[in-house]
Amino acid sequence: VHPTAARRPNYLTVQSENTTYTTEYIDAKYINRGASVSVSDGQFTVTPTAQPYELRTARKVGKTGLMMIGVGGNNGSTLCATILANRHNIIWGTKTGVQQPNYIGSVLRASTVQIGTDPLTKQEVHIPIADVLPMVHPNDLVLGGWDISGLSMDQAMKRAQVLDYDLQRQVAPYMAELEKPLPSIYYPDFIAANQEARADNLIPGADKQAHLEHIRADIRNFKEKHDLDRIVVFWTANTERYSDIISGVNDTADNLLAAIKASHSEVSPSTLFAVAAILEGQPFVNGAPQNTFVPGVIGLAEREKSFIGGDDLKSGQTKLKSVLAEFLVNAGIKPLSIASYNHLGNNDGKNLSAERQFKSKEISKSSVVDDMVDANRLLYKAPQVAAKGEKQAKGEHPDHIIVIKYVPAVGDSKRAIDEYYSEIFCGGRQTINIFNECEDSLLATPLILDLTILTELLTRIQYRSGEQKEFASLYPVLSLLSYMCKAPLVKPGTAVVNSLGRQRNALESFLKACVGLESNTDLLLETRIW
Ligand code: NAD
Repeated sequence: VHPTAARRPNYLTVQSENTTYTTEYIDAKYINRGASVSVSDGQFTVTPTAQPYELRTARKVGKTGLMMIGVGGNNGSTLCATILANRHNIIWGTKTGVQQPNYIGSVLRASTVQIGTDPLTKQEVHIPIADVLPMVHPNDLVLGGWDISGLSMDQAMKRAQVLDYDLQRQVAPYMAELEKPLPSIYYPDFIAANQEARADNLIPGADKQAHLEHIRADIRNFKEKHDLDRIVVFWTANTERYSDIISGVNDTADNLLAAIKASHSEVSPSTLFAVAAILEGQPFVNGAPQNTFVPGVIGLAEREKSFIGGDDLKSGQTKLKSVLAEFLVNAGIKPLSIASYNHLGNNDGKNLSAERQFKSKEISKSSVVDDMVDANRLLYKAPQVAAKGEKQAKGEHPDHIIVIKYVPAVGDSKRAIDEYYSEIFCGGRQTINIFNECEDSLLATPLILDLTILTELLTRIQYRSGEQKEFASLYPVLSLLSYMCKAPLVKPGTAVVNSLGRQRNALESFLKACVGLESNTDLLLETRIW
């Protein structure tokens, strides 16, 4: 068994008066340290702050289902096939030799976290992130979902043309045993017209309230049939166009529920699925770029205390951009323009060749450098303060364009070409060109796993602070999922962090806090002194 797929008993024990282990919970006391800054006449006054919290993690990992919308697509079928290959330890032949299944590309299964230093060797000790807290093993996920295409899962894998033939051949009998995709909701206006030919597995009618109830019943039935404690409902279906935000329609929870009853045309399939999951008390993650989470959905999630997260998987070009843009700006170099070209030939590319669906992707990809730029007003001019009643203008910003073209011949192997053109010392210029070629679905699939595993974990974590008597669950928008998302959804009114490094640090720090360990520090003071 490949080390990334190996099962290890959860062996991390923290010995501290701040950490208590019972059979049911891991309880940790944590001081959230920050600083409060006030600015007056160009002077900054900083006051360190420290807020004590108790974090409680339920230790029992429940039986977890993953219901994907779009399960018969490239991501959905690849995810199912690779989990089955891992579960049954299928070894397959390729032209270069023998390949073992693994979970490479999953930050939870295949990366490690530093937990301290061995006093004898003076070396840092790293453990798999998956071992910091009890998490569901991907092999144990119960798989299912919906697709507007009724092809069986073995045939869907074949259609996707992602996996090696010898793996497909061996895993096909297991894929055929999976349930066929459940019929789904199809409102042709939301995805590209070129998808119509595969839409042969539909819930009949046009009554959106009936559709909502149908999906809710699907979730309940799946839960009961497989005796599940938790189901993560995951949108990995086609990118939809943006929904218009219309006052009285999708701006509040009640308006949205009324709009569904009235079958309003602006309620998208993905929003209906999100509402169904929320009303069933199951978390919903959006792996595509459209604005599924209209304000009414966020309001409903708050009201029902049900978890949501997204948007859009940060797999290739954007992931690199969220590293490179930060590197340049933090190095004191000023990117003047970032030009990104993509071409791909899978069904996602075909759908994105339509203007309105491309627009959703463009929006999702374009905000990724904003926070890096905003954090450095030495390089970029700050925006003028808006006059009362006027819209706040944006500050100086690099030119940023995104082009996506559909080239059927390259199939799932996406090519991304990026040019970073920057100003350097005393008027100089620097150009960095990147050519990134990769099987799109093999980048995306481990992210779906990470999002699912992390989401299940976050439903088991509670906190308490100050006068609070009862433990409370986390805020419904799971911004800790940001690392895997191109356009992270965060609590309204709070800042979006796009930097991959900061997102990872937040995730590691949070997991460590839950076992009573301090956040990461690279200070390493003991190595700097005599
Ligand atoms: P795909 O086209 O192969 O699969 C999408 C599936 O969704 C299809 O089988 C389609 O029939 C189905 N579908 C469409 N509308 C549906 C509905 N209303 N209900 C149920 N099923 C529906 O695409 P993919 O490559 O698997 O990508 C899936 C999504 O993930 C896309 O939106 C894509 O933009 C997004 N995404 C992918 C990547 C990546 O690297 N692969 C990265 C980021 C985001």
